[in-house]
Amino acid sequence: MASVARRKLMLPEDVIQVLIEVADRARVFSHAPYSRYRVGAALLAASGKVYSGVNVENASYGLAICAERTAYVKAVSEGERAFVAIAVVTENGGAPCGACRQFMAEFGLDTWVIIADSTRRYEITTVGALLPQAFTPAQLALPRKRSARAQTRRAQ
Ligand SMILES: [Zn+2]
Repeated sequence: MASVARRKLMLPEDVIQVLIEVADRARVFSHAPYSRYRVGAALLAASGKVYSGVNVENASYGLAICAERTAYVKAVSEGERAFVAIAVVTENGGAPCGACRQFMAEFGLDTWVIIADSTRRYEITTVGALLPQAFTPAQLALPRKRSARAQTRRAQ
């Protein structure tokens, strides 16, 4: 991950360790009776608050939500929109799934992503590095077609 290493602004090691700790501790609340793959996340908002999250599975398997998205939804529903970093802890250091990468991209490609295993070994990257050529809100900023109402007004 040379591009990440070249960045001037790194996340302080003590912040990384706190986020890994919070994410790892959250794993106990994971609801994973089907996969038994417990995931914990800790999302650091620009406000300084940390929001934890876990994966929450469902008997209707497709309804499962990942720990990363749980953390984002908790934070966004409390008014947060800017994020610094998210730590994700699993037994074996699994990386965020594609759906979570897209979900996180909505709130910034520069957000640090710390991927750790249960021994707290980690690697650090960014949302942008995990999701090249991401579809972001910027893509929706194209000039809009005239609304039906505006066209009606013009026709009068
Ligand atoms: Zn996911």
